Amino acid sequence: MAHPTFPRSFAIRFPALVFAAALVLALVAPSPAPAAHRTAVPTPSVSAAAAMPSASTSGGRVATAKRGATLNTTSTKGRSVQAGVRGMTGWFPLANTKRLPRHTHEALRKTSLRKSPGKGAVVAVVPRGQMLAATGLTSRAHTQFYIAGTKGWARSADIRRASMAKYQTSSVTALYQSARSRKQLARIPADYTLGSPTNARSNGRVQVQYAGRTGWVKSSQAARVAGNVRIGRLSWEASAAKNIAKWCRGVPITAGPNRPNEAEASGWIGNMKERISLDTNGFRGKKLDPNHPLALSIQYHECAHILQYRAYKYDFTRMDKGMDKAYGKPRTASGTEHMADCMAVAMGARLKGSEYDPRSGYTTTWRSGYGGACKPGHLDAARKIIAGRAL
Ligand SMILES: [Zn+2]
Repeated sequence: MAHPTFPRSFAIRFPALVFAAALVLALVAPSPAPAAHRTAVPTPSVSAAAAMPSASTSGGRVATAKRGATLNTTSTKGRSVQAGVRGMTGWFPLANTKRLPRHTHEALRKTSLRKSPGKGAVVAVVPRGQMLAATGLTSRAHTQFYIAGTKGWARSADIRRASMAKYQTSSVTALYQSARSRKQLARIPADYTLGSPTNARSNGRVQVQYAGRTGWVKSSQAARVAGNVRIGRLSWEASAAKNIAKWCRGVPITAGPNRPNEAEASGWIGNMKERISLDTNGFRGKKLDPNHPLALSIQYHECAHILQYRAYKYDFTRMDKGMDKAYGKPRTASGTEHMADCMAVAMGARLKGSEYDPRSGYTTTWRSGYGGACKPGHLDAARKIIAGRAL
């Protein structure tokens, strides 16, 4: 272990300090047969080249794509991929297609594509606004594209990388059929990033693509995010990080089944490493939704520990004393734990709840934390620590 190079009075290496949240799960109902688990399947919008001249699956043939033709796929299902060809939509065998790189570009003006960079026969002329799929090959001032069963080179100055507008849901959100329709095509999970090729907006809604369908979501439930955010649901860790970003932005999070719920700070003054670990186990063997109130309460509690560490400048002894004094008695755990619970409440967490599952007829009651009360005085103290002040 390297010795710190700080002045002697600060050269104290703190042992890693870990607080685990004792998570109490009270399941008051017997466990029924597991309900069907529904998973959202994001459908990537990719380009695919048909390698065989047949476009028929079961059912009548609707179109034939030449070998090397570029298809814009709308969805995939089993071993088939849905794509449009000359105004018709059909299913192609996935095995006959190849996924192409997702770099789409837009022609900035009417552009000729040539056999070689800057020379050779014109293989295609594309109108302004045409979307093109790049092969990934570039030469000095030219870019190669898939075009109508072949490949051609365009001047790089004539095209630009198409950046699709992206929106991320803040909660479970309906996908509506049109800007004004009440008909719902799908329910989109929370923290789901959607692409919007048109970025069309109307009636407080924005047009997006979800699972191969085009529909509309309420703008109030889908915030614009950066173009490099991956389409699909956020990872569990990313959802948790988003939930605590207001207080614990940037603290690394690890999450997984049977991981401890804990917050850790280790190192020495001037170089403290913080980390939060979270358990993803939910009720009855199911994965816990990262936005479930129980998950939120644990995320807030662990983030609260980080804020306690910071408020006391990682002087853990002084912190524990301060927290014991602030929480007072009676208590079933350390003041640090009870105060982390109260800080979670001050941040907006619920420490218990119950929910009725109409499919199974069972009610699940859950509790989180150490079971102490959070009275107004505790909450006042909690808000001070959240604001970064030691008590
Ligand atoms: Zn704790």
